[in-house]
This record gives sequence, C-alpha cells and structure tokens, in this order.
Amino acid sequence: LLDPDPRAGEELAAQLENLGFPCRLAHTETELHKLVKAVTPLAAVLDPVHDHSFEPILDSAGNPVPLVFFSSRDDFNNRLRGVRAGGHAYFTKPVDPLALAAVLDDLMLRSPREPYRILIVDDDEPLARYYALVLDNAGMQTRIVNDPMTVMKALRDFRPDLLLMDLYMPQCNGPELAAVIRQQQAFIGIPIVFLSGETDNDMQLAAMSRGADDFLNKSISPEHLVGSVAARVARSRSMRALMVSDSLTGLYNHSYIKEQLALELSRAIRHRTPLAFAMLDIDKFKAVNDNHGHLAGDRVIKSLARHLRQRLRSSDVIGRYGGEEFAVILPATSAEAATRVLDEIRAGFFRLHHHTEQGDIAVSFSCGIADFPQFNNAQDLNDAADKALYRAKQAGRNQVVAA
Ligand code: GH3
Ligand code: MG
Ligand code: MG
Repeated sequence: LLDPDPRAGEELAAQLENLGFPCRLAHTETELHKLVKAVTPLAAVLDPVHDHSFEPILDSAGNPVPLVFFSSRDDFNNRLRGVRAGGHAYFTKPVDPLALAAVLDDLMLRSPREPYRILIVDDDEPLARYYALVLDNAGMQTRIVNDPMTVMKALRDFRPDLLLMDLYMPQCNGPELAAVIRQQQAFIGIPIVFLSGETDNDMQLAAMSRGADDFLNKSISPEHLVGSVAARVARSRSMRALMVSDSLTGLYNHSYIKEQLALELSRAIRHRTPLAFAMLDIDKFKAVNDNHGHLAGDRVIKSLARHLRQRLRSSDVIGRYGGEEFAVILPATSAEAATRVLDEIRAGFFRLHHHTEQGDIAVSFSCGIADFPQFNNAQDLNDAADKALYRAKQAGRNQVVAA
C-alpha cells in the first residue's frame, strides 16, 4: 500500500488488516517496487501521484502485480491511465475499505490462476502438435484429439476452456461437430474457434452459424494465435465466474455447488479418496436483522464468506447455499478431519466482533458434516449433512456435528 499521506496510509492499512488483508506500507514508489519483489503480494494498492505511477509493477518472477489505484482526482484521463496500466479498480478518496476489500476478494478468487486449457481437434497430427507447442509455450495446457469421434470424452475428462477445431476432417466436419457439442447443455457455452485454410466467406459464415465463435486462418502467426485464444478464454472465464457466483459474497452459488459436489464425488470414487461435505447456517440470524438492520446482516454474511475463504484450502469449494446458509466441499478429507477444521473456523468466527450501530456483536454458526464413503451419492451426502446441521441446531447451536 502506498499513500503519500503516511497517516492516511496507516489508517487504511489498519482497516484492511481488520478485514483480513495484511498490508505492508511503502512510503515511496521505489520502496513499493522493492516490497513487491520481496513479498509477491496479491495486489499493489497505490495513489498514483506521478505520471510514471501508471506503469506496471513486476514481481520477482517478472509477472505484473495486480494494481488498484486510489486518488483524490476523479477525472476521466486519470481513470483511463489507470485502465491502460492494467488497474483492476480506481477509487476516489476517501476510500471505502469495504469496497476495496471486495476488489481484493475478487482478485483472491481469481488467483492462483489455473492455466488455460485448450483442446485441439485436428486430423492433421503434425499441425495439431505445432498449435499445441505454440500454446504450451505461452503457458497454456493443451490436449490433442485427432479423431473427432472421441471429442466428447476429451471434453468431459480435460474440461477445456476453449476448442480449437479444424474445419475439414474425414469422419465429420467442424460445423457438424460444433453442432453436436452445442446440443449438450454442459457445453453450450464453451468457445469454439475454427482454424482452417478456408478463405471462402460463405463457408466461414456457415461454420459460424453452427455455433462457432471465431474463425482463424491456418496461416495465423503464433503471436496472433496465442492472443486470440487468450482473449476468448479470459472473457469466457469471467462470464462463467459471473454465472456461477453469488453477487453478495462472490462465493459460488447454489447450482454451481451442486454441480461441483457431483463432480468432486465422482473424482473421489475414481481415486478412492474420501470427501467431506459441510453445511453451515448462521445462528439466530433473524435476530441480527431485526435488532441491527438488514445491512448489518449483509455485512455478517460477507464476513463469514471472507472468513471461510481465508481459513479453507484453495482446493476446497465454498458456496453460498441460500440466504444465511453456506456449503463447503472438502476433497480428500474425512468427516473427522473436516469436523476439526470447521470447528476451528466456528470458534474463530465466533470471536470476531461485528460492528453495528448498537455496538459490537458476536455471531455464531452451526454446521453439519457428512462424508464419502459413508454416503456415496450427492443427494445422500446433502441430506445427511442437512440432518447433522439440524441436530447441531437442536443441541444448542454454535457447534459442528458429523453425520
Ligand atoms: P436458526 O439459528 O434456527 O438458523 O435461526 P435463524 O434466525 O438464523 O433462522 P431463520 O431461517 O428463521 O432466519 C433466517 C433469516 O435470514 C431470515 C432472513 O430474513 C435472513 N436472510 C436471508 N438472506 C439474507 C440476506 O441476504 N441478507 C440478510 N441481511 N438477511 C438474510
Ligand atoms: Mg437458515
Ligand atoms: Mg440461521
């Protein structure tokens, strides 16, 4: 964090720490650049006082650090320079710490970045390998399918972000294959990009009308190939993130959690590893709303979301199941281990102070846990966790019960 006003900087840093984001303060830009190299932060938050403040800041690995700007200036030009520098947000002073925390939450959700997964469908093996090499070198993950008839299996196993597809193949052509893929609900949104030597505009148009998103010429330069693919994937990932997330907390929404539970469970069955499913419900939450207002209630929900995100592993899937209900999928975790983890989280959350106009309050939650292999389908896991949660409520709340 860099604020030319050291007092204000310390104040903002303290508030961010309270919201769960430890800060390091820099007093000059040189110091900021040094700090970034030393600690590789989630983001650099700075007041751009000079023109060169709007330049990317690189971490020790040479990667640009996400930038968040805040300034007393609110002119379009400054905002534009912020965008051009790759800034994720631009706040005007005084900064609302909660709004800033929301942006940082968003950045945290996105990192660690998973490499883009690209499925290449081309009957020409050397050419497919060439595309794969180009994309691999740009840090993406690729898989090649030479026989279009096997593409459905690859879609399910590899779960690509994008399909790069040849237009002419012996068993079925690209547009036909695109139509087959699009007719399945699960793949309705996956970007499909055709690569072909085809220069006939009518044929291109026909391909696009069957569900393709883009058309690239096979003579495209490696840089353009990487650029077009990366731009498409970035956009489709952010659209997908919006579709699957809950707007208040940024956590996954109900339908996504259910989808993931089925997916993680089939993975657990395949790998013969355990899997725990936890359901959480805030205790006496109606009273929080009634006594302190709906906004205070919303802040409690957000703070539980943040608390869960900070305490759980990145492989755990966290969602908002309903109003004041949350669900967590813990892969490779038994019910006993999950109970220990969730109980620590429960105790930690209960120790937090939530500010309200009537003074600070403490809020608790109850939690029910079920695991595979004790329960071996998604519906049973869900029902068992729900029953365990009910027992936790009956037994006096503020506790974790395993099925
Ligand atoms: P219990 O300990 O048995 O869970 O009691 P409770 O009061 O938490 O349970 P109940 O289901 O009766 O009330 C839940 C309340 O949560 C009712 C609803 O108004 C409130 N709620 C649901 N979603 C939201 C939300 O997004 N924001 C706020 N502020 N309140 C919400
Ligand atoms: Mg409830
Ligand atoms: Mg409740």
